[in-house]
Amino acid sequence: MTDDNVTGHFVDSQKNAEITITARAVSRGVSNGRVVCLYGNRKQFYRVFLQKIQIEGELERFRTAVHLAKLQLREISRQSVAFNKETKINIFDAHYQMLEDNALSVKIEKLIEEKKVNAEWAVKIVTDSYIANFKSIADTYLRERYIDVEDITERLLNALSGGGKSNFLLEKNSVIVAREIKPSTLIELIASAPKAIVTEIGGWTSHSFILAREINLPAVTGVTGILRRAQTGDEVIVDGFIGQVILHPSENTFKKYQARAAQFQKAKAPNSNARKEKLITLDGRQITVRANVDFIDQQIRQKLSGASGIGLYRSEILFNQNENFPTEQEQIQAYRKIAEIVGTERAAIRTFDIGPEQISGAGQEKEKNPALGMRGIRHSFSNLEHFRTQIRALLQASSKKNNIDIVLPMISDVSEIILTKKILEEEKQNLRERKIEFGQIQLGAMIEVPAAVLIVEEIAGEVDFLSLGTNDLVQYLLAVDRDNGTVAEWYKTLHPAVIRSIKKVLEAGESCNIPVIVCGEMAGSPVYAAILIGLGAVELSMNLNSISRVGKTISGIAFEEAAQIANQLLRCRSAEDGEELVRQYFLQKWSHLFTPENLPGGKIQN
Ligand code: PEP
Ligand code: MG
Repeated sequence: MTDDNVTGHFVDSQKNAEITITARAVSRGVSNGRVVCLYGNRKQFYRVFLQKIQIEGELERFRTAVHLAKLQLREISRQSVAFNKETKINIFDAHYQMLEDNALSVKIEKLIEEKKVNAEWAVKIVTDSYIANFKSIADTYLRERYIDVEDITERLLNALSGGGKSNFLLEKNSVIVAREIKPSTLIELIASAPKAIVTEIGGWTSHSFILAREINLPAVTGVTGILRRAQTGDEVIVDGFIGQVILHPSENTFKKYQARAAQFQKAKAPNSNARKEKLITLDGRQITVRANVDFIDQQIRQKLSGASGIGLYRSEILFNQNENFPTEQEQIQAYRKIAEIVGTERAAIRTFDIGPEQISGAGQEKEKNPALGMRGIRHSFSNLEHFRTQIRALLQASSKKNNIDIVLPMISDVSEIILTKKILEEEKQNLRERKIEFGQIQLGAMIEVPAAVLIVEEIAGEVDFLSLGTNDLVQYLLAVDRDNGTVAEWYKTLHPAVIRSIKKVLEAGESCNIPVIVCGEMAGSPVYAAILIGLGAVELSMNLNSISRVGKTISGIAFEEAAQIANQLLRCRSAEDGEELVRQYFLQKWSHLFTPENLPGGKIQN
């Protein structure tokens, strides 16, 4: 549950009161900077001050968006009239009229010009005032018109995004504050080197926070009401170790945190001494540590030197970066680069795990339960041309080194693997006929859906390796949305159903003689890594920044001891019993590695 303790501390006026909010730490580190509030749903935006020279271009961008929105409305209106012939005037005509009647556009353009702000911001300010006016009307019918303004606002903002990137950069030292941050927004904002993220909604395994941990960007989530308390420009300190956000820090607090922030900046500089060591427990069990990688940047080769290749590359990052499907050539290039970087090691590249919510434009139906919808392998099968393109790109990227593995996300049935193998064969034949070289790839399945755990032996019989995705596995086993902070309390990694499922998957790998790579966030947590090892895991794949901490755990524990606690965990009747067992045992046996603070129930768990 969100621990939202707010302690007011007055400095010189009510407005500048120091406010400390304690919520959930989801990416380690301490930073300070100035708040930049993000708004919007499909496309997130923030306020940008324009140079005089940019204003004409911005007005043009806004006019194009209005034109596009009107075209969409005309089309939707035409379709809905065809569907219901009785309807003479429909709601979309009313929306069209609102845009046709220039009053709204004139106000927005005026604001862009006079306040020198971006079009998104001007749309927000003007439509917010319309909405407030409608809401204050006593007549129920008229009052409800605010919903139409909200619809038009959303349509205009989507049209402004045009499916592409904005060219604006955040100011230096920005701390992003949002209700929720989408991975595609974060990827775009990373170019401006933000200092930290604070959101109202999210979880430890939300994709945006997985990315934040990869790039050492401190993050705190579950900060209820932050968008009401913070304004763009406010000074803020974010402590991603203990989950604290301090708004309007006093001089004293600021000084205290500045020293910690500087220490963190120094510590996060890439470690040039990273060496790939064989990671062995005190009693000689060898553990292979691989890297979960999303960003293939300049320093990646050096950073990877601590890992045995890539255990998970989430290829949808290519989709998110382009906000569209990358071409075959773009994919070949990206995958070849990865094969090159890992050299003689292997790289497991997962096919796109995306859903319609990442693709759908304005006017398309949103899925009610995207996590249960058309995502992962289902999405690939429904967009076969794109899937085939990706398979061809992977085959070609593998041609020289043969070190690429393909992983299929969201497998729930053996037939999905059989169909993929058929597609693979067809695409190999396709390449042969065109005399294009390709390599030998290995095929793996993500085990992250409860059904896949129950039929894991059958799946293991069809693939070369298994990838255990604990992030989704916990979500689906316990029916708890990994992105929804309000149910974070129910996201219980040590639940007996989770522990027993992991054991079953590891045993299936062993009996079918194929590797199981544990690649969910559990593998990158020193506490959970010890438990995974005790359950029999020998291949862990994690965010690069976790490798040294987990490495310390591996070389500081004995497998026999870890197996003892794992056996007891398997017999626990509840998550609470499991958590208590872990706390007691770890403190008793491994107090040199763990403190009460970083064990379940403690303050530091990320
Ligand atoms: C998982 O579900 O554990 C996993 C590794 O995949 P993702 O986090 O991308 O869903
Ligand atoms: Mg997953």
